[in-house]
Amino acid sequence: MKNTHFFQDKNILIVGLAKSGFAAAKLLHSFGANVIVNDRDKREGNLEAEQLEKLGIRVECGGHPLSLLDNQLDFLVKNPGIPYHNPLIEEAIKRGLPVYTEVEIAGLIAEASIIAITGSNGKTTTTTLIGEMLKNSEKNPIVAGNIGTVFSEVAAQSTPRDILVAELSSFQLMGTERFKPQISVFLNLFEAHLDYHGSLDEYGKAKAKITENQNQDDYVIYNRDDENVVELLKHSKAMHVPFSVKNKVVEGSYIQDGALFFQQKKIINLKDIVLPGEHNLSNIMAAISASLLAGASVEQIQKVLTTFAGVTHRLQYVGDVEGRRFYNDSKATNILATKAAISAFPNPVILLAGGLDRGNSFDDLIPSLKNVKVLVTFGQTADKMAEAGKQAGIETIKRADNVEEAVPLAFGLSKKSDVILLSPACASWDQYKTFEQRGDMFINSVHKLK
Ligand code: ADP
Repeated sequence: MKNTHFFQDKNILIVGLAKSGFAAAKLLHSFGANVIVNDRDKREGNLEAEQLEKLGIRVECGGHPLSLLDNQLDFLVKNPGIPYHNPLIEEAIKRGLPVYTEVEIAGLIAEASIIAITGSNGKTTTTTLIGEMLKNSEKNPIVAGNIGTVFSEVAAQSTPRDILVAELSSFQLMGTERFKPQISVFLNLFEAHLDYHGSLDEYGKAKAKITENQNQDDYVIYNRDDENVVELLKHSKAMHVPFSVKNKVVEGSYIQDGALFFQQKKIINLKDIVLPGEHNLSNIMAAISASLLAGASVEQIQKVLTTFAGVTHRLQYVGDVEGRRFYNDSKATNILATKAAISAFPNPVILLAGGLDRGNSFDDLIPSLKNVKVLVTFGQTADKMAEAGKQAGIETIKRADNVEEAVPLAFGLSKKSDVILLSPACASWDQYKTFEQRGDMFINSVHKLK
């Protein structure tokens, strides 16, 4: 680990005791910092708080009292989910205290080099692809970030022989100051999370922090087809490596004669790639660029692309039942993701959609629903979704109580060679604990058909 002395004797307030706060508290305590942990939820039954207290760490639960800021703090470490308009955070900023996320700590202590991936959609898919492509290369890839592991914890264990591949959200990037990956990847920028960031401009700026400290020796890999991204990276000092599904960009990755190229070298024929969809082609190009620059072999990349069928719950191929192909895209919790999923298939699909009602309309989905032949809706938005389907001219629209019921219903309405796709365009919390649980229900129901 590098720079651990930086934290010694520092007074640090950690706000938010989720997995990342817990990991950061233990880590900073072990570096000799004076750590106070603060969480909104009550203390009773909080096993993490109990564990930290046993280590001698002060834990304050049940609210965010401003008096916590009277502890001669050097800085705060905030859980990425806590908004900046939280009164405690607002007051800290007013007092001039730096507010970081644990990504800042990870960046300071990691001995491994870092590939960091951001974008509105496609982060997990691209991060996973890069991790797979870098296997069997000189460096040992370690995937970190949103995918189940805490970045700072993984960074603490890394050595110069490793390479950290980290998926980073705008929320995480906002709380960084010195973070400097050797390779940054910027996939796309859609209107999302505007409730948190206020405007697309602010959201974009948060994401662009991924390259803020990069210099001429570093790389920024970016989507040349996305004007917002191009604009945001104009001032990045890193070497620009574009990718494009539309134009030939010889400095980066592009398509020519039915094949994918990187810097004028042919990598793979498009027909040999298993992962469906143009949006995934974009993710693949980003992943190829990052992994080749980090030392992956073309053979390993080909091996991954001819076998990798998608990350669980992201347009994941579940299997074939009597000639019907089932895809689980439960992670599609917004309209844009569902649009991408529908357009991944050349022929009209049978779509299962609906879920938590956030008050939005589904008008923007209507053009894509023209590539849907049968619509099965469920959840709080079932009726709204059905109305959008009607406007798109879908003849068969049915309502199910939930995903478990929607699967046999869709199967009964299908014929051989149909694609049956779960891509809800809504969050899952009206009926399921998580989008993973919703996806698992889908998979189980498909297996039951067999
Ligand atoms: P993230 O980690 O950014 O949420 P995922 O890889 O988990 O991204 O994919 C989330 C959803 O977005 C999935 O439903 C997927 O089908 C869709 N998606 C993936 N990549 C893209 C892309 N490049 N553009 C648009 N949608 C995408």
